Amino acid sequence: MALIQCSECGKKISDKAEFCPGCGNPTNPRTKTVKRLGGVYEAAGFVIILLGMASMFTGYGYSGILFGTGFAVFIVGRLK
Ligand SMILES: [Zn+2]
Repeated sequence: MALIQCSECGKKISDKAEFCPGCGNPTNPRTKTVKRLGGVYEAAGFVIILLGMASMFTGYGYSGILFGTGFAVFIVGRLK
C-alpha cells in the first residue's frame, strides 16, 4: 500500500482508496472517465431520442430505429 497525494486537496491518501476521504475526489482517474463517459452517453441518447421524435413528426421513417438506439444509449449511460 502506498500513499498518494489527492489532486484536489493535496491530502495524503491510500492508493487503494477509491475516493479521497478529505474531499471525496476520486483517486482513480478511470472512475472520473467512466463517470464522464456515462454523462456523454446519456446526453447522446437523449439527442437521438429527440431526433427520433423529430423524424416521427416529419414522417422521415427512421423514428423506430432512432428511438431504439437512443433509449439503448441512454440506458448504457445511466448504468455506468
Ligand atoms: Zn482530496
